[in-house]
Amino acid sequence: MIIKPKVRGFICTTAHPVGCAENVQQQIDYVAAQNAPSSGPKNVLVIGCSNGYGLASRITSAFGFGANTLGVMFEKEPTERRPASAGWYNTRALEKAAQEKGLYAQSLNVDAFSDEAKTAVIEAVKANMGKIDLVVYSLGAPRRKDPETGTVYSSTLKPIGKAVTRKNLNTDTREVGEVTLEPATEEEIFNTVKVMGGEDWERWMTALDDAGVLADGVKTTAYTYIGKELTWPIYGGATIGKAKEDLDRASVAINKKLADKYQGVSYVAVLKALVTQSSSAIPVMPLYISALYRVMKEEGTHEGCIEQITGLFFDQLFSENALNLDDTGRIRMEDNELKASVQEKVAAIWEQVNTENLDELTDFKGYQEEFFKLFGFGFEGVDYDADVDPVV
Ligand code: NAD
Repeated sequence: MIIKPKVRGFICTTAHPVGCAENVQQQIDYVAAQNAPSSGPKNVLVIGCSNGYGLASRITSAFGFGANTLGVMFEKEPTERRPASAGWYNTRALEKAAQEKGLYAQSLNVDAFSDEAKTAVIEAVKANMGKIDLVVYSLGAPRRKDPETGTVYSSTLKPIGKAVTRKNLNTDTREVGEVTLEPATEEEIFNTVKVMGGEDWERWMTALDDAGVLADGVKTTAYTYIGKELTWPIYGGATIGKAKEDLDRASVAINKKLADKYQGVSYVAVLKALVTQSSSAIPVMPLYISALYRVMKEEGTHEGCIEQITGLFFDQLFSENALNLDDTGRIRMEDNELKASVQEKVAAIWEQVNTENLDELTDFKGYQEEFFKLFGFGFEGVDYDADVDPVV
């Protein structure tokens, strides 16, 4: 099969197995070239392991620390006639590379929110890993079925209190226009917290604790974004921000449990905005990210998922040095994004940008290149005209 990108709205419905493998390999090479601390996790569970920040966490664990990794993902398998989703190919490539290094790497394609996923993970840990010393919670999901009640909750991306009108980029048509988002109802806020809040993270940690598969000194982390004025009305101060606040609540509860029983710790880590399948679905973010990339690349401080996560693991979570914590106890990894000078430059671009000057003022080109790379497209050295077997 010859696989080309097919974009529908903010998603690419095809993925290239060879390109996805190249994407994973480049991240592995990056990690291998860094200086990892001498001691790090040995048995890592990554919930949401196949794309974006979760994939980078798994790569950093395996190729930075030589850890065994177990991943949970929700991906489309390939058929003879249809390619798999990118996360499926990323995961196959990661498993192959880890196994070549003699590392255990297993992945479960299950709904992480279900009890079945927790049971399957615990069985796999007991059979193959012993005890887990790092749990990464990195889900980006639009809905969640509550395993206790069977109710399905959907998240919404809406402001709270009043409607918000913001400049917005349609990444498909390249048009800069405006988007108006109506305020969320109480029910929509509640539902978004149910999906993207901390409840499921807590359920995972309770299940792992009850099963006796957490190691002494275990660490866990979940990822969040906060942002500043430009994105606040649609992110930090909106439904998704409420869900992220609930992660802070959950982290305190988990931390207490881990500290008492395992001398363990729980942290919410605040990461920078960048192109992933999840962020491209959030209104306003593609334009903000295109402007931000322009400014941060010019300043030489641009980072992708793998740079952020190696920084988090090597310089923060597993470093001897003091952590870069805020007053809520979160680890801050996005200082460079939030610097006043950077935000001012992004805001100036924001003021002026329109459909005509989009490429001149922003790095939409870089945004798009990165977007296509998420699906395995646009890598030099990959022959996209070649016939490839979609079933890997
Ligand atoms: P992503 O879309 O790249 O990856 C999401 C992962 O979740 C995938 O591995 C997917 O398979 C998995 N997943 C989704 N639903 C699942 C389910 N029901 N069961 C099992 N697995 C499931 O997302 P991302 O951007 O890397 O986001 C990960 C986390 O990082 C999120 O909490 C997000 O809010 C946070 N974050 C993202 C950004 C950003 O700019 N992208 C910035 C800061 C924090």
